[in-house]
Amino acid sequence: MPRGKEGSFDTMREFLRDYLKDGEPFKASIAYAEFWKSGKAVDGLGRTISQKDFAMFLRTEVLKQDGLLKRTAHGIYEKRIDPEDHGVTFARKNPQSDISFDADDAYLDGIQVSPADARLDKLCEDAVTLTARIRFAMQSLQKISEVYPEFASELASYRAGLMKDMDRVATSLSAVMAWCDDHTNEILVAGDVFAYLESDEYDMEFSQEMMNTANSDDEIRDYLIERHRAYVEKCMECEEQGHDWEELADGENGISELDCQRCGKSMTLSW
Ligand SMILES: [Zn+2]
Repeated sequence: MPRGKEGSFDTMREFLRDYLKDGEPFKASIAYAEFWKSGKAVDGLGRTISQKDFAMFLRTEVLKQDGLLKRTAHGIYEKRIDPEDHGVTFARKNPQSDISFDADDAYLDGIQVSPADARLDKLCEDAVTLTARIRFAMQSLQKISEVYPEFASELASYRAGLMKDMDRVATSLSAVMAWCDDHTNEILVAGDVFAYLESDEYDMEFSQEMMNTANSDDEIRDYLIERHRAYVEKCMECEEQGHDWEELADGENGISELDCQRCGKSMTLSW
């Protein structure tokens, strides 16, 4: 059971009040590291406030009228002294390109994503290319340590960290691709359900259910989605496995009535 958004926000706000110092900007990631060290990120039941939750909270504190923060640059925050000064505002997203889920809005900050660039195989390829570029950049930077050997170990540790992170990105993308391979059917059904939600058939069934029941729009929508999902799954399964025919033979007329016991399909065979 989650501790609830409000409870998490109270915990983070309490931490932030102690952490903030007048006129001292801080990085979101460093503040989160401190928050983690304080032990408040995990509660007694092991429920964790993630770095992403923390970043969302900081954003809220900038946007809110009575929030604690202003944003001085991307990822950099500072205690708000003038209640009217929110600092650098967040870029508005183009509503036409709104293909993301709300929770991730903070991480798009106005960047438009083309669906073609967001294909998993393309992203995997991009991650490998980016890794190669980063390695090249870091190797160039490492040359500085021939002149300044005192920087060698620091640079080497950044390089190792970056390579490890990039490796993790590529590995995680492969894991998502493998998940998609394992869930091809669910992905197909979801696609069919989305198409159904856009169709005239859905509009008609929705109005019909509205007349038949006194339920809320959301309940009717959920009911229709569930019904359609079950229907598509049944059809796909039936197609995959072959129909479960029951035959009723009529010897006099030389025909058989076939009924699928699974999906209800029927057909007539002449012989
Ligand atoms: Zn069937």
